[in-house]
Amino acid sequence: MKLIEVSKNFPTEEQALAYFEKRRWPNGIRCPICGAKEISKITRKSKSKNVRAQVYQCLEQTCKSQFSATSGTIFHDSHLPLSKWFMAISLMIDAKKGMSALQLQRHLGVNYRTAWYLAHRIREAMDEPDGLKLTGTVEIDETYIGGKQRGHKGKKLNKDVVLGIRQRGGPLKLVHVVDNKAGTLYEQVAQHVDKDKTDHIVTDDAGWYNFRLTKFRNVRHSKILHSAKEYVRGEVHTNTVENAFSLLKRAVIGTYHQLSIKHLQRYLNEFSYRFNRREIADRFEQTVARMVGIKAMPYRKLIEQHAFTPFVKP
Ligand SMILES: [Zn+2]
Repeated sequence: MKLIEVSKNFPTEEQALAYFEKRRWPNGIRCPICGAKEISKITRKSKSKNVRAQVYQCLEQTCKSQFSATSGTIFHDSHLPLSKWFMAISLMIDAKKGMSALQLQRHLGVNYRTAWYLAHRIREAMDEPDGLKLTGTVEIDETYIGGKQRGHKGKKLNKDVVLGIRQRGGPLKLVHVVDNKAGTLYEQVAQHVDKDKTDHIVTDDAGWYNFRLTKFRNVRHSKILHSAKEYVRGEVHTNTVENAFSLLKRAVIGTYHQLSIKHLQRYLNEFSYRFNRREIADRFEQTVARMVGIKAMPYRKLIEQHAFTPFVKP
């Protein structure tokens, strides 16, 4: 669903709630506390259009809980109408270069704190499931993000290293790594590439790509000689991972002017989530469905989580 369809399909909060209810309870409403099917509807009259007036009452004698369609989900302790959430989701998953909290603020007409909160909560749904492993022909390359280095040609000491692993014709995985040493990169490759289902690894001729002493030693490994200005040799190239890098760089430069390095991995996750679904027609529906499964997250907890530093650079 594109933004235009989202605003057309959910002109009222009731319609957005009905859509959400179907995603949450495809087989009929159940009490989120005890799981009972016997429930009754209570419609409250509300003066404010932003208040979710539809409430349910569990009829199980030992439970008797009252709940709404969003109770216990990530959407719950938000005073924003669901229709705004849906617009934010649509904006974030369709923005090729990413969407900053500042842009969300402008598009939705909410304050910055609300936009920031929304963006981070939607990102929670944008983590790839654990265990996604790449197969087939796998291109591996690294790129450097960060400060300019005048007079230090070739040295990349102050820059942050992003390792890109892409299954040719398939998904992309981006990892913020501490350095470009062979051991560091290999550890990530081992985590994200399926050794048994990969028949070809392609990298450039940088010295750190050497799998001879690793469990990938029996997988065919080709090197494209970037140092000799060679970019394609038949099926040997890293062009599809490099295409992703150039889009990433435009996103980092164009959207997140003040991208904080400590949040880099989260932005990388968001970027790859979007990238990997750019041709999937129901990515909006899929993202809402994922968010249904994410528990409520208080502002304080979110701040704590986002204050983490994945590693300290030496
Ligand atoms: Zn109940």
